[in-house]
Amino acid sequence: MPSVSASSLVKNLIRSEILALSAYHVPDSGGYIKLDAMENPYLLPQSLREEIAAIVADAAINRYPDPNPAALKGKIRELLALPEGMEVLLGNGSDELIQLLAMALNKPGATLLSVEPSFVMYRMIATFTGMRYVGVPLAADFSLDLPAMLAAIEREQPELVFLAYPNNPTGNLFCADAVRQIIAASPGLVVVDEAYYAFARDSFIPQLTKFPNLLVMRTYSKLGMAGLRLGFLAGSAVWLEQLEKLRLPYNVGVLPQQVAEKLLENHKVLLQQAGQIKLDRAVLYRQLSEIKGVTVYPSEANFLLFRVAEATAVFEGLKQRGVLIKNLNGGHPMLTDCLRVTVGTPEENEQFIVALQACLQSTVE
Ligand code: PMP
Repeated sequence: MPSVSASSLVKNLIRSEILALSAYHVPDSGGYIKLDAMENPYLLPQSLREEIAAIVADAAINRYPDPNPAALKGKIRELLALPEGMEVLLGNGSDELIQLLAMALNKPGATLLSVEPSFVMYRMIATFTGMRYVGVPLAADFSLDLPAMLAAIEREQPELVFLAYPNNPTGNLFCADAVRQIIAASPGLVVVDEAYYAFARDSFIPQLTKFPNLLVMRTYSKLGMAGLRLGFLAGSAVWLEQLEKLRLPYNVGVLPQQVAEKLLENHKVLLQQAGQIKLDRAVLYRQLSEIKGVTVYPSEANFLLFRVAEATAVFEGLKQRGVLIKNLNGGHPMLTDCLRVTVGTPEENEQFIVALQACLQSTVE
C-alpha cells in the first residue's frame, strides 16, 4: 500500500456523486418534546408490553431470522385483504424497499421520476444507485400538476415513478383520479408510497388488480413501530418474485419479525391510537389556523405543514423552549419558511402551541 493519506484515497475512490452528498441529518432529540419524525407518541398497553417481553425472552436470537416469515406475511395479507395473485415483500423499513426497487430497475440511463417537494429519499436513493432523477414541481397548493406530470412522463419515459400518497412533507392526499391517469400513462413501474395510510381516507391497494405497472409500498413506522423497521411492497407476484432476488436474505431480524406479528394481531390497538392522532390533528389544525401569521395546510397524515414569516427563527425558538419539530426552510423553494410538526399527544400538542405563540411574539417584537 503506497504511503498516501486516507483522505486522498477516499477522494480518488469514492464516487463523486457520493462525495458531493450531505448525509441525511438526524438531529439529537434527547430531552426535547419530539415532534420531528412522524412517530406515534403512544406506548402500548401494559398487557401487550408484557406479551412482547415474553416473546423477546423466548426468541432464538442465536439463529438467523426466518428468511420467509410466512405467519407475519399471512397476517399482513389478511389485514390488507390482498386479492389472489398478489404478494407482499418485506423490507427493513420502506427506505430499504426504495433502494431495492432502484437497484432492480436501474438499467443504464434509467430514470426515477417523482414530484417536488416530496420524500427526499427518492432523490437520494436515485443518487446512491446512479439513477437519473427527475422531480416534477407540484402546483402552488401542493396538488399534482397533472399536465406537467403527463408531459414529463411522455418526455422522460421513466422506468420508475414514486408518488407518496399522502405526500411528505406537504401532508395532502393527491387526487386519486390524477394518480390513476399517471399510472395509466406510465411506461414503467409506479410505486404508490402509502407510508401514512393509517391517517388517510384512501388507498391504492384495491387498484392493484387494475394496473400491471402498480405496486403499493407501506411502512409500519408511523403506526407505532418505527423502532422495529418494517415496511412492505404489495403487488403482483410476477413483480415481487423478481424483486425478491435482490432482497438480502436476513433483512428483517428475529425480534422485529416476532414483535410485529404480535402487534399486527393487535392491529386494532394501533388503529385506535391512529384514530386518536387523527382527532388531535384536527384540533391542532384549527389551533394553528387561528394563530395570526401562520398558514397551515390540510393534511391526511400524522403531521401538519405550516408557514410562518421566519421559519428558522421560529424553529430555533421552539428548540430553546424544548420542542423539536422539522425545519423545511431552505430545502426546496416551495417550502420557504415552512415547518412540519408531527401530531403528538394532546399535552405535547398543547406545549407546542404555547411555545409557538411565545416564539411568534418574540420574533415580531
Ligand atoms: N415514505 C415516506 C413518504 C416517508 O415519509 C417515510 C419516512 N419519513 C418513508 C417512506 C420511510 O419510512 P421507513 O423507512 O421508516 O419505513
